[in-house]
Amino acid sequence: MADVFDAVVIGGGPGGYNAAIRLGQLGLKTACIDKRGTFGGTCLNIGCIPSKALLHTSELFEEAKAHLPKLGIKVTPELDLGLMMAHKTKVVSELTKGVEFLLRKAKSEAIVGEARITAPGKVEVKGKDGTVRTLETKHIVIATGSDVAMLPGVTIDETQIVSSTGALSLTEVPKRLLVVGGGYIGLELGSVWRRLGSEVTVVEFLDRITPGLDGEIGKQFQRILSRQGMKFQLSTKVVGVEKKAGALAVTVEPASGGDQQTIETDIMLVSIGRRAFVDDLGLEKIGVKLDTRGRVVTDTHFATNVAGIWAIGDCREGAMLAHKAEDEAVACAERIAGKAGHVNYDAIPAVVYTAPEVASVGKTEEELKAAGIAYKVGKFPFTANARAKTIAATDGFAKMIADAKTDRILGVHIMGASAGEMIAEAALAIEFGASSEDVARTSHPHPTLSEAVRQAAQGVEGWTMQM
Ligand SMILES: Cc1cc2nc3c(=O)[nH]c(=O)nc-3n(C[C@H](O)[C@H](O)[C@H](O)COP(=O)(O)OP(=O)(O)OC[C@H]3O[C@@H](n4cnc5c(N)ncnc54)[C@H](O)[C@@H]3O)c2cc1C
Repeated sequence: MADVFDAVVIGGGPGGYNAAIRLGQLGLKTACIDKRGTFGGTCLNIGCIPSKALLHTSELFEEAKAHLPKLGIKVTPELDLGLMMAHKTKVVSELTKGVEFLLRKAKSEAIVGEARITAPGKVEVKGKDGTVRTLETKHIVIATGSDVAMLPGVTIDETQIVSSTGALSLTEVPKRLLVVGGGYIGLELGSVWRRLGSEVTVVEFLDRITPGLDGEIGKQFQRILSRQGMKFQLSTKVVGVEKKAGALAVTVEPASGGDQQTIETDIMLVSIGRRAFVDDLGLEKIGVKLDTRGRVVTDTHFATNVAGIWAIGDCREGAMLAHKAEDEAVACAERIAGKAGHVNYDAIPAVVYTAPEVASVGKTEEELKAAGIAYKVGKFPFTANARAKTIAATDGFAKMIADAKTDRILGVHIMGASAGEMIAEAALAIEFGASSEDVARTSHPHPTLSEAVRQAAQGVEGWTMQM
């Protein structure tokens, strides 16, 4: 006999588990299904969390090696990669168990198994032992996330040719690492292994790294990463790879075609992006519409074209970010419960957790130019920020963009230490419809890095005081 629910969420990542928690809070009898065996999705198991654990520990290693001696602290660090990985594994395990606790607390049932939608209102779950459970429900939320995008002609074996998943679990530091793709995942994982001793080369198809980020920041960011020892080959594509006596011979050529070149490497990381994952869900049979990129099509309230079926997170359009999935989860759950959930996509920040960090929210100058919107810009470098000097982290700057007529903040872009923490202030300002003057006149504690954001805000009206 079928178990009956008000809502069944397929996928236990930041989209799925947050939807299930919010639905439970709103009094709906909810189940959250994930086939992985642990909850938390890509983010907690093989994404945000393990990568940030390794970024933190590898940064400490490099600090101890290269920076602490300059500050009068002499240490000779020795790497224990096994222990470093054990820290990562422990964090992942604690947080994934934490999600199960949160689901229980919200009275949402956590089910391990592979789900398939057999009809609107009907979900079949195949457990690891092969048993099949049938669920009946008023609402189905698809939150099945994304998977690694493949490079044509290249097979990922997760030992020599790895995706981000393999790159998070290498058992020794490769002498040479070739990163295919200059987006945030490639640059973060490239930074981890460079800090631990690898020679890292990034091959990027476009003529810039981190496409989508502010162009000015993108250029300076690349300069800083190059200074740290990362090599870049832009406007270049990988056309083939051959395994040769424990190493790889990677053939590249200019993006627009031309002479080929071979790059020898020990490990190749394929990080050219991610694709929406809705495989084997049964969507074709029940007629849920997908777009040309295989993403579930929804209206602005996350409803698909089939009544009672909703979609959120990486499997639908938009930035593939954990907090975007979470925001959509809350709004979708509230819509299901008859409330007015809503997501403001202009106030969703994005962060690259390298050193320095790069963080942005709202529009870039390039986007505003393309849209013909007149704007003013204020900027402030961390070289002129007292706290940045005290912590010896003066790379980067803060930049605020405001509407030329109304002064409403349209975008904030920060490159610098702790940029990922500071961007929350900017997201809040945009969410509240603040003007640059509002931020410029808000007291910021001294000495903090966040004062750079205030100085950039003052710069919009031309009254930056500390430069
Ligand atoms: C290396 C890396 C680093 C990242 N770092 C960051 C970061 O710092 N910040 C950030 O915001 N984002 C980051 N991301 C992106 C982030 O992980 C995703 O945007 C986020 O996980 C999307 O959440 P989701 O719930 O939509 O999907 P997912 O987290 O992908 O979860 C989907 C879940 O659905 C399950 N599933 C799929 N099909 C079925 C089925 N038929 N039955 C049952 N279960 C199913 C899968 O097992 C999976 O667990 C990173 C990603 C990677 C790969």
